[in-house]
Amino acid sequence: MTRRYRSASFACGSIGAFLTVVYTFRLDSGLDDLIVLVVAVGSCAALAAGPRLHRPPDPWPWRLLAGAAILSVCGLIGRPWAVGQHGAAVYSAEAFTLSGYALLITSLALMLRPRGLGRHALTDGFIISLGAAVAATLLFAVPGAQVRTWPMLLSVLAGLYPFVDVVLLLLLLNLAFSSAADVVSFRLITVGMIGLFLGDGGYAWLGTLGQLHGSALLDLPYLVTYTAFGAAALHPSMVELSSVTPRTVQSWSVPRLALIVPALLSPTLLALLQDPPPADRVVVVVATVGLVAALLNRATSAVHGYARAQQVLLDQATHDALTGLPNRAGLADHVQALLRDREGGPAVSLLYVDLDEFKLVNDHWGHETGDRLLVEIAGRLTGIAGPHCFTARIGGDEFAVVGRLGEGPACLAETLREALALPVQLSGLDLVVTASVGIATAGDQRTAEALLRDADTALYRAKADGRNRCTAFQAGMRQTVRARVETELQLRQALGQDQLWVAYQPVIDPRSERTVGAEALVRWNHPDRGPIPPGEFIPVAEETGLITQVGSWVLEKSLEQLAGWRRDDLLPDPFTLSVNMSAHQVHDPHLLPWLRSALDRHRIPVDRLVLEITESVMMADTETAADVLSGMRALGLRLSVDDFGTGYSSLSYLSRFPVDEVKIDRSFVHRLGEAGGGEAIVRAVVAMAEALGLEVVAEGVETPAQCEALCHLGVHRAQGWLWGAAVDGEEFARRHLAAPVTRAAGNP
Ligand code: C2E
Ligand code: MG
Ligand code: MG
Repeated sequence: MTRRYRSASFACGSIGAFLTVVYTFRLDSGLDDLIVLVVAVGSCAALAAGPRLHRPPDPWPWRLLAGAAILSVCGLIGRPWAVGQHGAAVYSAEAFTLSGYALLITSLALMLRPRGLGRHALTDGFIISLGAAVAATLLFAVPGAQVRTWPMLLSVLAGLYPFVDVVLLLLLLNLAFSSAADVVSFRLITVGMIGLFLGDGGYAWLGTLGQLHGSALLDLPYLVTYTAFGAAALHPSMVELSSVTPRTVQSWSVPRLALIVPALLSPTLLALLQDPPPADRVVVVVATVGLVAALLNRATSAVHGYARAQQVLLDQATHDALTGLPNRAGLADHVQALLRDREGGPAVSLLYVDLDEFKLVNDHWGHETGDRLLVEIAGRLTGIAGPHCFTARIGGDEFAVVGRLGEGPACLAETLREALALPVQLSGLDLVVTASVGIATAGDQRTAEALLRDADTALYRAKADGRNRCTAFQAGMRQTVRARVETELQLRQALGQDQLWVAYQPVIDPRSERTVGAEALVRWNHPDRGPIPPGEFIPVAEETGLITQVGSWVLEKSLEQLAGWRRDDLLPDPFTLSVNMSAHQVHDPHLLPWLRSALDRHRIPVDRLVLEITESVMMADTETAADVLSGMRALGLRLSVDDFGTGYSSLSYLSRFPVDEVKIDRSFVHRLGEAGGGEAIVRAVVAMAEALGLEVVAEGVETPAQCEALCHLGVHRAQGWLWGAAVDGEEFARRHLAAPVTRAAGNP
């Protein structure tokens, strides 16, 4: 479609060009008139058709252009006739032509409107137009107006045309300088305007000779104008003329300088060449002063413009676009300046604030909500930190507050932490996010990086200790962090190098002391470091997300083992295998389908598998957790709440989530028998579980006394060293499946 219209524009241009060439040969005056008529009428038709074909956002510039073409063709055709008339009729042709110019000026002004007047574009246009105006005045207007044989009005008109052209030139240049120059349609208009200026120049020269009508060749440039305007209206790019984004920085390009330099020189050159009379010298002097002023204005505004642009770039490099706070680079500069100026005043402290589990907000409520939350958090931080502290956003959900806090950083950190934990109201939601804060106070650190690293280390510690807390940096932490980073690297290797294995601990019925299940517990045998306890590497795996891989691997191995025991017909009935699940795994959308296919693959009845989750899984993101857990339940899996009593121990979520059992944490079991110990708690848990129809499992049973107490309290199942620690699958079968269960000889 666009191609067809482009061809229409080309056809219009070609026909116009052909007729213009024929006109040049001046074959016959009748033919000449006919050519002028055909070209002019064709141009009017094209100008009327263009906006209908391309539907530009604003069709009015083109309609006015069509009107201008119609009026000017009337003026052109009527001029030879009008010259011979008397009275007002002499001016009829000029009236048409001048009205046409008025429409042309309005049309260009409308094209310029969506771009606005760029200061530099306007000044450059003004300089060039002023130069042209001086030339027009000295060469045409003044001599034209001095022709004595004319009526006064014609003299005035002869002097007016060059100025109308100067206004047109100013508009055209502003359009060109405000990004229209690349549009094909605009280039065609420029060609048309050049034709117009040449034509007007010709008539103005004729005017200085005291004539109004001369050779028909004087109308030749107007044919070019009609043709080019018609082609411009038919070209598809005409739409862009009213919708182009303006350029912000206007530089002096070579084409622009090629117009500006002659304009600047024009008064001087004309003065030299013409040796003008005293009255004209005034024009030269005024124009020169005007040009120098415009040039100065242009130079100073360019300098200011570049300074502003540089400031914007600098701000962008040191500030965060979302919150408007300084970014990491801005923080580093500020901290560096504070550290340099150490003398006097309290010590410099840096608080590294990191939101806990912010990813969940983004994942669950979308990035827009996440962004708004960050803006709110930034506001709270700056509000509390106050003007004496420097607050920055140094990463996605990481902020820093730095200042000369002396002895008070812990206090400020605590206030910030508490303020951030207050609910944030966003789109009808009450969002609660907590934050962890790492504190470092400048001692021997010489650089901002070192202070930031220490605060980061303290933050790492705060996260590892359970989040939503403030931790001050201590020298020993560097070693701990290094060890954790090492553990992470080695765990990645361990996964691919068979260093992990799964151990099974028996779960028994405390009354009959028969094995009724097992818990799968991952083990890591490091080739150099020896066995690494899960308490050391599971938290690292959780933080780094590696737990998803470790967890799937444990599940796969455990199901394989369970299938093996079933195949060898070793399992008593009932027998369930419990596997620990981390929060990351529960939120993994692939978990459910994977579980379904793994159970199928190993031909294991679904109710043989128990998934152990901790209370924190349910608390972190209740809606998603409820969905996933319901999905697991629908599959037929059993769900157990591990380490019950160490977290929030809220009755409400136990009734809201589809769980089957609670596993009382070993710390309560250990306190059984002590005065004011775990008995009351275990009794309360059993009562609550019974009310909700849940089973109660006790873990960490080490002594017969604990076992008896648990039996007495009505616990359904138990596990602990009393019956054996976790051992590999073969050993487990030998000790706990083939033979009746006996109590272990001693603790492992
Ligand atoms: P947990 O799920 O509560 O596992 C029970 C822990 O208690 C195990 O520690 C077990 O060895 C220990 N234990 C068993 N009987 C006794 C006893 O009589 N006395 C005492 N004091 N402790 C006993 P382990 O194997 O070191 O595991 C620690 C934690 O690591 C587990 O706690 C579990 O939260 C996590 N974990 C272990 N394997 C996995 C896994 O495959 N995936 C995930 N996500 N977490 C795992
Ligand atoms: Mg467990
Ligand atoms: Mg436990």
